[in-house]
Order: sequence, then C-alpha cells, then structure tokens
Amino acid sequence: MSVNQQTHTGPPYGQPQPGYQGYQQPAYGGQPLPGVPQLQYGAYNGPMPGYQQPVPPQGYFPSLGFPSKGCPVSLNSDNSLAPNFIGSLRTPATSGAPPPPSGPTLPSGHLAYSQLGHGDVQNGIAASAASAQRPPASQPFLPGLAPTPVIQTSAFQQYGPTPASVQQLSNDMTGMTIGRTTASAPPPAGLGYGPPTSGPPVSGSLSATGSGLYTPYTASQGPSPTSVTQSLPLAQPPFPVQTITTQRLPTQVPGFAPPPPSTGIGPSSYPPTTGAPRPPTMSGPPPPPLGQTVAGPPASQPNHISSPPPSAVSGPHPGPPVTGLHGPPPPTHPPQPGYQMQQNGSFGPVRGSQPNYGGAYPGTPNYGSQPGPPPPPKRLDPDSIPSPIQVIEDDRSNRGSEPFVTGVRGHVPPLVTTNFIVKDEGNASPRYIRCTSYNIPCTSDMAKQSQVPLAAVIKPLATLPPEETLPYLVDHGESGPVRCNRCKAYMCPFMQFIEGGRRFQCCFCSCVTEVPPHYFQHLDHTGKRVDFYDRPELSLGSYEFLATVDYCKNNKFPSPPAFIFMIDVSYNAVKSGLVRLICEELKSLLDYLPREGNMEESAIRVGFVTYNKVLHFYNVKSSLAQPQMMVVSDVADMFVPLLDGLLVNVNDSRTVIASLLDQIPEMFADTRETETVFAPVIQAGLEALKAAECAGKLFIFHTSLPIAEAPGKLKNRDDKKLVNTDKEKTLFQPQTSFYNNLAKDCVAHGCCVDLFLFPNQYLDVATLGVVTYQTGGSIYKYAYFQPETDQDRFLNDLRRDVQKEVGFDAVMRVRTSTGIRATDFFGAFYMSNTTDVEMAGLDCDKTITVEFKHDDKLSEDSGALLQCAVLYTSCAGQRRLRIHNLSLNCCTQLADLYRNCETDTLINYLAKYAYRGVLSSPVKTVRDALINQCAQILACYRKNCASPSSAGQLILPECMKLLPVYLNCVLKSDVLQPGPEVTTDDRAYIRQLVTSMDVAETNVFFYPRLLPLTKADVDSDSLPGAIRNSEERLSKGDIYLLENGLNIFVWVGVNVQQGLIQNLFGVSSFSQINKALTMLPVLENPFSKKVRSIINMLQMQRSRYMKLIIVKQEDKLEMLFKHFLVEDKSLSGGASYVDFLCHMHKEIRQLLS
Ligand SMILES: [Zn+2]
Repeated sequence: MSVNQQTHTGPPYGQPQPGYQGYQQPAYGGQPLPGVPQLQYGAYNGPMPGYQQPVPPQGYFPSLGFPSKGCPVSLNSDNSLAPNFIGSLRTPATSGAPPPPSGPTLPSGHLAYSQLGHGDVQNGIAASAASAQRPPASQPFLPGLAPTPVIQTSAFQQYGPTPASVQQLSNDMTGMTIGRTTASAPPPAGLGYGPPTSGPPVSGSLSATGSGLYTPYTASQGPSPTSVTQSLPLAQPPFPVQTITTQRLPTQVPGFAPPPPSTGIGPSSYPPTTGAPRPPTMSGPPPPPLGQTVAGPPASQPNHISSPPPSAVSGPHPGPPVTGLHGPPPPTHPPQPGYQMQQNGSFGPVRGSQPNYGGAYPGTPNYGSQPGPPPPPKRLDPDSIPSPIQVIEDDRSNRGSEPFVTGVRGHVPPLVTTNFIVKDEGNASPRYIRCTSYNIPCTSDMAKQSQVPLAAVIKPLATLPPEETLPYLVDHGESGPVRCNRCKAYMCPFMQFIEGGRRFQCCFCSCVTEVPPHYFQHLDHTGKRVDFYDRPELSLGSYEFLATVDYCKNNKFPSPPAFIFMIDVSYNAVKSGLVRLICEELKSLLDYLPREGNMEESAIRVGFVTYNKVLHFYNVKSSLAQPQMMVVSDVADMFVPLLDGLLVNVNDSRTVIASLLDQIPEMFADTRETETVFAPVIQAGLEALKAAECAGKLFIFHTSLPIAEAPGKLKNRDDKKLVNTDKEKTLFQPQTSFYNNLAKDCVAHGCCVDLFLFPNQYLDVATLGVVTYQTGGSIYKYAYFQPETDQDRFLNDLRRDVQKEVGFDAVMRVRTSTGIRATDFFGAFYMSNTTDVEMAGLDCDKTITVEFKHDDKLSEDSGALLQCAVLYTSCAGQRRLRIHNLSLNCCTQLADLYRNCETDTLINYLAKYAYRGVLSSPVKTVRDALINQCAQILACYRKNCASPSSAGQLILPECMKLLPVYLNCVLKSDVLQPGPEVTTDDRAYIRQLVTSMDVAETNVFFYPRLLPLTKADVDSDSLPGAIRNSEERLSKGDIYLLENGLNIFVWVGVNVQQGLIQNLFGVSSFSQINKALTMLPVLENPFSKKVRSIINMLQMQRSRYMKLIIVKQEDKLEMLFKHFLVEDKSLSGGASYVDFLCHMHKEIRQLLS
C-alpha cells in the first residue's frame, strides 16, 4: 500500500474508494468510434455511488489516456521488484522526456478527428535528443538561416522552376542520371532526354507479365484441359501414418450409418438410408451428431454449441443428413426449411449437366474401383456435400443472438462470420485469440495420431466493436505488475491465492510466490480475493498494465514515436500524378495521426523525405519561413544531414509543412530521373529515428525496381519459367540478404516500415517486402497506378494505415501451462531467439499464429492455459503491457478434440504453414503435404470417432465438415497453384498478406463471399443471403457481388432486366454498362442506394479498401471473376470441390485400409 500512497494522490485501491473513477474508457487510439460508451468500472461491482464522480483516476487509468496524476512518479522507480519482462530487453537507448502530462482525464470518446488544438504543444524531444545528433556534415543551406547542414558528397538540388520558398537551391544536379546508367555524371538538366527507360506507358516485355493483382486472361490463356491434369497433385506418396484398423462393417449398406456407439459419437443419428432419396422423417431433434456424414447440408451445427451437450440442441433437421458419396444423387430435393438459399432453382435454371463434376478427382482414375464399395457415381450432387453457406447461416442463427461469455473454459466461440458480442469473464475474447481446438489432447501421442495442429491465432491489438469494453489499463505504481517469480507470468484470473492470500501459486509453472505487501488482500470463504471484481487482472481475460521504467529500453521511458513520409519522386511517380496526390492528401491527413484518447493532438512527430537515386531531406522547423531541402547523393553510407527540423510537431510547423507539400510536386515536375534506390531510403529513416531516439514508422511510396547504384540494389530476376520447378521457391526468397540485416537493425530500433508500391512492372516484392514484413509493417500494391481509377483505393488505404491503432517496439511472448509450449510462429515479425516475437510496429490488424506442441502430459482437470503478453509503446509514448489469457480443455478421448475444433482457424494455420513452406520446398511438395495432413486428420476421426460404417462412405467430423472445401481453396490459391495471369510479384505479395491475416480475413480470402444483389431487400439493413461460389449458382437474370477482402466484383448477367441496369448503372442497356467503373454511380433510387450501402458496409469491415471491378457476363473479364468461384474447377488446374472431395475420400480410404 505504501507504494501506492506515495505514487498516487488518492487512497490505495484494493478497497472500495469513494470517488473512485478508474476504468474509464476513452476512444481507442484516436480512431473515431462513434458510440463508444465512456464506460465506468461500475459494471464490475454494480452501481456504486462513488464510481460516478469524475475525480482523477487512481490506480486504473483509462486505457488510452495519460493519467492526470500519478504516472510520472514511476520514473523514480527503484525497481526493487526488478521485473524482467521477457528475457532481455534490447540494448539501444531510448531516452527522452517522460510521458507528457496531459490535461485532466476527460471523457473523450469523440475527440478523434477533431482538429488539433492550438494550445500547449509538446515538442521538447528534439532538443533533448539533439545531442545525439551526428556531427553536422552539411553546409549551410542559406547563410545565416539554417543550422549549417551538409554534405558528404551531397549537393543541394533544384528541380524545375525554383519554388519561391525553397530558397536558393543550388542547381547542382549531381547524381541525376537517366535510365539505367550507374555513373553519377549528371546530364545537363533540362536538356532533351530520351524517353525514360521505365516511363509509362510501359510497353516492354515485362509489362506483359507485370500486372495488377490479376489481369484479364488473354485469349491464349484460356482453359487448357491438359494443364489441369498436369497441375493436380496426382500420385500421393505412401503415407507414413499410424496403422489404422478400419472399423467398417463390410455389410454396411452404403450411405447408412448405424446408431451411435456408446461413446455417443458418430453420425449415427441417422436412420438407414441407401443413398437414395431420404425419407422426410428426419426432422426430430438429432442425437449428438459429432460426425457428419457427407450429406445434404443440415440446418444446424450442433457442435458449435460446445458447452451444453449436443443433445441440448434441437430444431429442424431438414437436410437428409446421410448419403454415401458414391450413392446416386437424389432425383429430387424436397423443400427444406432454412435451405432456400441453396436451392438452385432460385438463382437460375435447374442445374443441368455439370461438366466439371464429371467424376473422380482427375488423376485418380481408379477411384471407386477398389474392392468393397460399389462403383463410384458419375456425378455427385453438389447440394449433397457440405455447404459453407449453410454452416455459416446455421452458426449465425444459432449463435448470433446471444453474447459470447468467456467464463467457461474451452468454450468454442461462434464462427468469425457470425456477428456476436463478447463478454469477457476471464478468458480473452475470440477477437484476440482463436484456437484450432478448444479441447486439446492430453498427450502428444494423441495429438500426433490426430494430426490436428494445435495453434492459436492471436491479434493482440484487435479493434473491438463499440459495444465491447476495451482492455482496462491497470497501474500498479512503481512496483509494476505482479508476476510469478519463476516463469514471470503476469497476474491473471487463473493464479491461485493460498495461505490466506499471502502467497499465490502460478497457474503456469506451479511456483509459489509471495504476494507483495501492497497487493495483499484477504480471501473470502471460497478462497477468492475479496477484491476479485475490482481488479481486471483477477477477473478478466484481457487487460493492460502500465509498464514501469524497467520495461523500457535502457531504463528510460520512450519518447513519442515519429512518422516519416518518404516519397519516390522519380519519373514514374511524378508522371502518374502520384506525387501530387500524396502531397495533397498529406496536407489534411496529418491532422488525423493516432492519439491517445484524451489528448487534443497527436504526440507523433512527422518528417518528410523524397528520393529517386539520391535522397532529399526537408527541414520543416516551425521557425522557418520556408522549408529547406538538403540532398544526400552519397547513398552508399547513408546519414541524416539534419536532425533539428526533420521531425516536427504538425501543429507547430503547419505552415512550413503545407508549403513543402505544395512545392514537392512542382520541384520534381520535370524530372527525368527514372532510377530509384530503396535500401538507403529505409536506412535514412532508421537513422533519423535513431538520432531522435524514438521509435516510429516509415511510410514509403515506391514505384520501381531499385536498380540505381546503392546498397540493396536489385536486378530483375523474375522468371516465370521457374513455376512448377524445384527452383520456384527462389521466386519467394529475397535475392539478397542485405534486407534481412537491415530489417534486424530496424527492429532493434523500433523502426517499422509500411510500403506502398506502385509498380508498372516487376519490382521484386519478395525482396522489397523483407523489411516491411520483419518489422511488422504493411504492404500495399497498386499495379499500373492511375489516379482516375486507383486513387480512392490508395487514399483510403493510406488514411486507414496512418490513423490506425499502432504500438511500437513491441515484444510478444506466449506463456503456457506445463505440458505444452509455443514452438512455432507465423506472421510479420522478427525473432532473435525462440520465444520472443519482436515487432517494430504492431497495429490493430496484425495477427500472429502460434503453434503449440506437447512437452509433457496434460490433465483433464487442470486443462491448459495460454498467456500472451505484449510489451509495446503506445502512440503517445507510454510503455504498456497487454495481456490476454485463455484457458482450454484437455481430453483423453479423440472425439472431444474433434468436437471442439474450429475449421476456420485451422485453415488460417494451414495456409500460413503452407505459405511459409514455399520458401523452402517445391510447391507441389507443399500441396501434397497439406492434402496428406488433412487426410490423416479425417482418417483418424473416421477410425476412432465415427461409428462403424462402410468404407465407401465419407464421414466428416461435424466441426470439420468444411475442411475439404476450404483446404481445396488454399491449394488452388495463387501462391500454391498460380494461373498464367498471376505475376511473381502478385504471389509474393499475397504470400505476405496472408501471413498476417486473422481468421476472418483468411476465411473470406479463400472462400469469397458471393451475394445476389438482386435479392437484396431494399427496405432492410441486412445483406442478401450469400450463395455458394460456383458458376452454376449464378443466374443470367441477376446481379451478384463477390468480395474476398482485396477485391469486390459486381457481376451482371446478360439477361438482367433493363430497369435494374438503369437503376444501378444509369444506362439503358447491358451493352452500355461501363466496365471501367471503379465505383457505382450515385443514383437516387432504392436499388442503387442499397447496393452502394452494401459495398460501403463491406469496405468498412475489411482492413484494406477493396478494388471494385465490374464484370459483364460473357465479357473477357469474366475469366478473372471465375477465378474466385472456388467451388468450380479452376483454369490453373485446381480441382472442383466435388472432385476434391472425392479425392480426399480416396486418400482417407487409403489411410484406413
Ligand atoms: Zn510461473
């Protein structure tokens, strides 16, 4: 207590305190969250009179606001408890002012986006950091005006007309060369240069392959039956699997599953059928259906309701749930409630012949001819196999109406496609952590047998919907968070207090630790601390601790971070209008930098650099009348020619910055420089941050392969002939290790790199992206950028990227209870050891997938625990720890594992695992391994959990019945099986994107959402029901929308009514629809409004602004659209869903036989 009494103005917490006000929730990171309630902690203890009074916080501070009092005292901490966050902290010094005191803690849910205040500004950092500045190496820019910057081999440059405000720029054009000349001899400025080597429009050979994310197929790229067969994974290697004894009953009639075994599992609920039309008597409450025989989509997904036993689930069971894969499709499909959306007839002509479903998986001609089962069907009815749409709809209707309460261990959350509210009662929200299974095998033998990967997908700074409570910020004063003495786990709801509350036993390592005196509290008769509900760290799954100085680099509190905007001003960038666009946008965007909830203005400082093959730094110090430019042309040993004035407060330097942003496009308007450097740009940004002793983010806007003579210079090594060879992996690997080393340096200094690419040809994303990837940054790519068509997308991405919640200098560690441990990590980060995930920047979209392995036996009683701790610096420079805890069940029966799996999360893990695999293995090997693993997962289920039945039946676990269809989507994705239109850069780009995706993003990326717009109810807010991704579901008379998180397609059938076309496109006929539209015209009619509101809604849901593409049926562009109809056979050789399911079945049978 004494500690707190010293450090806080109020009484110590831990007891009811009159006037206590903590736990206030301001807006989140400066992002506008309209409707965010300014929550009081009253919810914890129920209404308490004192809680409503606005007094200075004591103890618990608003999650994102500075405490008005109390905080700075921790500067004086003597760290007697010597917290050691996660092993060693990195050494580089970070000094600077202590966190600036803010004004009184105000309810501030709506401060975001308001104009910056003009009151006190905090701009003292530069001065204090100035001593660290590299010795001046440049000359005075203007005698007597600037603080003598200059120059190794640098020179002041002037481009084009002298802007009045850039005074007396010298006209030394050193370093300006054209084309690919590497010599530095400057051609005379302004003379008649030949056409730039890479100037647009590009017509070189590369441009034929370089393209947007996807380019239209050309006629010569049409379907090629042979390539289909070639590309399919054919021969499967023998499976090094456990021996599986089949339990099938030889006499079993195909399609029939007997009653459940005594374990209560299996698809046994279904009465015998023979694969023929099922009797419509299936509507009673189904017995516990753990297993789902492949069949007509059932109306519910009982196994997703995990807590109550499945028998508690009732409801119509409309779909005849049992059918053998080999049984002939039912001749008719009786009407089934809740299943209308898949009724083929609703969307088009009755399905006729299906060329794509012609039989077994290509390359498996012997399928079905094995002894035992009857011959395979010629066709399998797609309606009889598990439907993603049905599963999603069922989960929505079963689980979308009630809050998901996290108090129950091992409770499987609703699907990511279901809207639901989370109530934190001791476990982290699924928005922060999702697991492949919520019931994990007790032994490693079981885990190996099942082959189900044990993984958690963690999004530490996930954005929450306004209705949910942000993690509370807990301040334990100068003593810092309470931790286990041995494993250093943080205090959490699972710690066990003993000996009257004087000690606690660690839930992770069992070590007993003394409770620090100031933290002592009595226990009630149940052994629970009486302040249980007063303390987030005792009662909640997620919360934050204010970190003490001991958690800071060099034992100094960090300075607020900085953003540096680094703009390519080479010919391509200028000519396309990009430079002008960026400068215009920045003028307003700088007012929306992230800020802590209560702050009137952002603490983030900004700086500006432009570059082509030399770098131009700008002094935008507030005292200057005009910005000053300093050029560094010796890019071999990058340094920063100025410190004071490079990083400034936006408000202080508003006029100078505006002037600079006005001048940059003019200065370079006539540039002929086509070459760029890249690594020196990152180095410059890194050096600037180092000199300012702060973390930060570089926003680099870059257009071309950096071929200019400089460190990190690249060559064009694109070679699509390597696809499908053993050397294909080199296309994904960086061409030099230079960037890996640079990335390491960046991470060590908290320099995160966000990269906006605007290529007109190959620019080697695999190499340029290395630093971005390893620093936790984001990559955006806009091929053939044209302002008219791409500006909205780019600007929306930029705005979101600049404004979003982000932490710096982040280190994450995942602790686990005895028996399992984190063994592998996937995502955008750097690791210098085997446990700590380091991210120079960690934003609200970044996701890390963590795999666990057994190192001991687990117990069903104690379950398994995860604790994810992320130490980071907030956007105002506050050092914090965000803690997420999750408890899982453990099982000795495999059936329990399969009953509590989450296929969407499993796919997230498998995709990331495979996408990493392509770096080191041939793509075919990676695909085969995926198929093999999934076959083993399903075979293990079949053998151990499903009721005995004919081997001719494919029986899938209820929770994994979509595994085959989703896995097929991963296998067919551009990284693993590219079509001819997909460029090397596209593949590298997508590979990196997917690696940081959360579960919702991978879900829609691999299985896009397809909505019949013409079925939308214009009077309601709801979306039209999605349909399956197959061409046969499309009707010529309808308009559809397909989205996958990167693109939105609007597909228009040739027979769409004229009125609809008029309403949506404002033209009178199909032929007049302008397919070059990138947004729909704003028309005042209900249909147009509805469709545009749907598109807006989808855009809001995604972390990137999706490109809108209009596709007219039978138009050339339709081939591009069909690429995303993932249930169909793909042009690149990907199997149809039906064929792949047959193939999986064969694999499983091989494993079982
Ligand atoms: Zn411990």
